[in-house]
Amino acid sequence: MREHLFDCVICNREVVDYTSRNGRDRHIEPICRGCERYYSDKGPDAGAFMDRRMACRLSAIANALQGTAGSMDWERRYGCS
Ligand SMILES: [Zn+2]
Repeated sequence: MREHLFDCVICNREVVDYTSRNGRDRHIEPICRGCERYYSDKGPDAGAFMDRRMACRLSAIANALQGTAGSMDWERRYGCS
């Protein structure tokens, strides 16, 4: 059964999936797989799959934060209000 699992902290989309899904492709809070793929750096080459995935997820969150901070900074400097 598909269920609302959480809202992605990057794109705010609702993540809906089978609650029974388990394994390497499952969604892991707090970001969706889409943002995970889009924002992540290339992960490490060695290590267990889920460890590498965690490294990718952390870099994705860091990159998204940096992007948001950058656009806020730009707006503060050059935005008209
Ligand atoms: Zn997302």
